[in-house]
Amino acid sequence: MSGPLFDRVAFIGIGLIGSSLARVMRRDSLAGHIVACARTQATLDTALALGLADTASTSVAEAVKGADLVVIASPMSTYRAIAAAMAPALMPGAIVTDVGSVKGSAVADVTPLLPAGVHFVPGHPVAGTEHSGPEAGFDTLFRGRWCILTPEAATDAGAVERVAELWRRAGAMIEVMDWRHHDMVLAITSHLPHLIAYNIVGTVADLEQETQREVIKFAASGFRDFTRIAASDPVMWRDVFLTNREAVLQMLQRFTEDLSRLQRAIRRGEADELQDLFTRTRAVRRGIIDAGQA
Ligand code: NAP
Repeated sequence: MSGPLFDRVAFIGIGLIGSSLARVMRRDSLAGHIVACARTQATLDTALALGLADTASTSVAEAVKGADLVVIASPMSTYRAIAAAMAPALMPGAIVTDVGSVKGSAVADVTPLLPAGVHFVPGHPVAGTEHSGPEAGFDTLFRGRWCILTPEAATDAGAVERVAELWRRAGAMIEVMDWRHHDMVLAITSHLPHLIAYNIVGTVADLEQETQREVIKFAASGFRDFTRIAASDPVMWRDVFLTNREAVLQMLQRFTEDLSRLQRAIRRGEADELQDLFTRTRAVRRGIIDAGQA
């Protein structure tokens, strides 16, 4: 299939995720016109210089005027104010979607503010890097990765399908699920691993100077992989933990119980317990490789 999917697309936020999707739309001519919106003119100048948008505006209301698709791709703490600013300017029948990592808060912050006749299709591409900004994006970021959509049951099926088709064009696989389920699954598969990485790298950063040098020197022995994750965008991850608080705390509770069990096994010298777990976890890794998600 070819030809534009949308006449006029507004990106509210044009960083890593927004600019990657804009690159796909440019590459495959999926939008008649793209307008970029961000707080700072510097971001917009970069987006225009990279050819990611036809026009740009720091005003959300200005940007969404006449758009048949609005993609919110800014930090989640900005959603409520953005939804309030766009609501009076949205075209009837417009589709609003987002890319935020937590879906419960997206629904709570956006849905009540949108006028009747505008369709909200929350989305989350499960893909990313530790880099930020319009320069960090690339058009293959979503290829072979999942994009999870969490529309309410009453949401217009045609609008959901148009958003799904956009992500398919980006190379993503689509899964539709309830936002509550999404937030619980992501708490354990994404949010908790980031919390653990932030914690271990933070612990090391607090150690005295001499030890830190040793850590950098021998980083390849495991610590290095944590530092990559712990270099992820601070604002985005602050928002993830504040917006998905309940699910993260639930998973953290289970995690600390399991960690205590490991601690006891080490103290008691329970070799079998340790080896059993490490054998099971190796199988999990193999499963991820087999699923093409490595
Ligand atoms: P990013 O690279 O930091 O980009 C954020 C963009 O939002 C920038 O263009 C920023 O420009 C703009 N922005 C910030 N505040 C704004 C406001 N009040 N109004 C309008 N624009 C605003 O961030 P990102 O990694 O693309 O993340 C964006 C969203 O994607 C987040 O909600 C995140 O949860 C989600 N997500 C991220 C990843 C990942 O791995 N990074 C993966 C999946 C989903 P200015 O600073 O100039 O305003």
